[in-house]
Amino acid sequence: MYDCQTCGACCAYSREWPRFSMESEAEIALIPAAMVAENGSGMRCEGERCTALKGELGKSVGCTIYAVRPLVCRDCQPGDEECLIARRHHGLPV
Ligand code: SF4
Ligand code: SF4
Repeated sequence: MYDCQTCGACCAYSREWPRFSMESEAEIALIPAAMVAENGSGMRCEGERCTALKGELGKSVGCTIYAVRPLVCRDCQPGDEECLIARRHHGLPV
């Protein structure tokens, strides 16, 4: 299966993806405020890329808030539908 640490495509596909859903306010408060969207709806993105993603897409990446990342990020699994959409979009092999 795919190696997320050499990918990152799903973290840079759409600013609509890393949104908050069932997180509590206490959980969201653990995320650095600078990385939360101004309207509080989810992660702050630059373009379509989540600001918590460090590194170079398709080479070496990491989530800088991995332990406290949103639920949607926990649900995403390598090889699932969203993963394949994102990898294709970024020209990574599927
Ligand atoms: S697109 Fe798939 S392989 Fe890439 S980081 Fe996301 S879940 Fe992992
Ligand atoms: S919070 Fe982390 S796992 Fe979620 S989109 Fe941003 S970089 Fe990816």
